[in-house]
Amino acid sequence: MDYRKAFEEAVDTVKAEGRYRVFADLKRLRGQFPRARLRGNDGQIREITVWCSNDYLGMGQHKDVLDAMHGALDETGAGAGGTRNIAGTTRFHVDLEDRLAGLHGKSGALLFTSGYIANSATLSTLAKILPGLIIFSDQMNHASMIEGVRFGGCEKRIFRHNDVEHLESLLAEAPADAPKVIAFESVYSMDGDIAPIGAICDLADKYGAMTYLDEVHAVGLYGEHGGGVAERDGVMDRVDIIEGTLGKAFGVMGGYIAADATIVDAVRSWAPGFIFTTALSPVLAAGALKSVEILQGAEGQQLRAAHQAKAAELKQRFADAGLPVMQSESHIVPVFVGDPRHTKAVSDLLLADHDLYVQPINYPTVPRGTERLRFTPSPMHDDPMLDKLVSSMDALWTQCNVARRPAAA
Ligand SMILES: *Cc1c(COP(=O)(O)O)cnc(C)c1O
Repeated sequence: MDYRKAFEEAVDTVKAEGRYRVFADLKRLRGQFPRARLRGNDGQIREITVWCSNDYLGMGQHKDVLDAMHGALDETGAGAGGTRNIAGTTRFHVDLEDRLAGLHGKSGALLFTSGYIANSATLSTLAKILPGLIIFSDQMNHASMIEGVRFGGCEKRIFRHNDVEHLESLLAEAPADAPKVIAFESVYSMDGDIAPIGAICDLADKYGAMTYLDEVHAVGLYGEHGGGVAERDGVMDRVDIIEGTLGKAFGVMGGYIAADATIVDAVRSWAPGFIFTTALSPVLAAGALKSVEILQGAEGQQLRAAHQAKAAELKQRFADAGLPVMQSESHIVPVFVGDPRHTKAVSDLLLADHDLYVQPINYPTVPRGTERLRFTPSPMHDDPMLDKLVSSMDALWTQCNVARRPAAA
């Protein structure tokens, strides 16, 4: 076996499809969000504007968040020093779990080292706790949920994206007495559409299913206190398990679930992905705690309003310029290209010629033929930044001869 060749071929396949990924080497500039320094292949440093960060509100540079992290670092040191069970639980972890439970109106919450692990560990553990479980999973669910369902090894049914009728037909076909979990997201981050959470909870009630909702792209961003779309829609109490991240709108790192304390206690006791890994650094927990606290209050409300206004403005400006901005009900602003090479070419030129960074979104993140650019405007993207982005995109669309077909794509 020529091992080396196998690895080379694996990379070549990706390259041949035009979806080989090159990471931008960035240094974010504290206090200047969304500006960053880019180190190019030639080693040259340039200042650019980032248009694709999931630090949606710039909380990763919020002074109070940084102060909290500096405080925790000086007070307790760098790492947790163990798993949660073995010396790794600090006051910051406990307080953060309390706050997250409160944010979602639940009696418990559990931290994980990332949102990815929260999904994978929790969903796979549900299958162990509920023998005979069938998981009903939205077709567009994130890779971490798909992995959790696979690891769980239970039966699964995939329902068409946000299609409540299809979900109902699958639920109706399943044995009435089988335990069921409906797993879905609120904001789907590549299309920017939003699940009908209330209608899915109605079905869960009707067919005796539990609901598992990934609010990763909504926590901090929707609802009066940043509890997510379920809070906005007044259905938080109807969702059994809410999963979120501390790494996107909260600007730090880590993941969690919030649920009834009994559910949380069972997952805590059974999930290897929680048990056998070093706890989040207390520095991260302290920063996330402060960030959640800020976004629950008046400052959060202002930031959320400014964030939505900025997203609406960018969508309108792209549409006015005749660019194929896709239909999105959320803060996500996807622009359709439909081919991996074109997507990469536009992204490369935006960076090389216009100092604007937006990552191309290719398969497997989105289905082939729906490649796109995905913009995430924040309250800190100002008018000159918007002007520059829209005029640069307009020029590149002509230069690269990309279709200006309407949003329906
Ligand atoms: C990013 C993401 C995750 C994973 O969260 P991390 O904290 O980044 O690991 C989970 N679900 C969805 C929908 C995501 O986009």
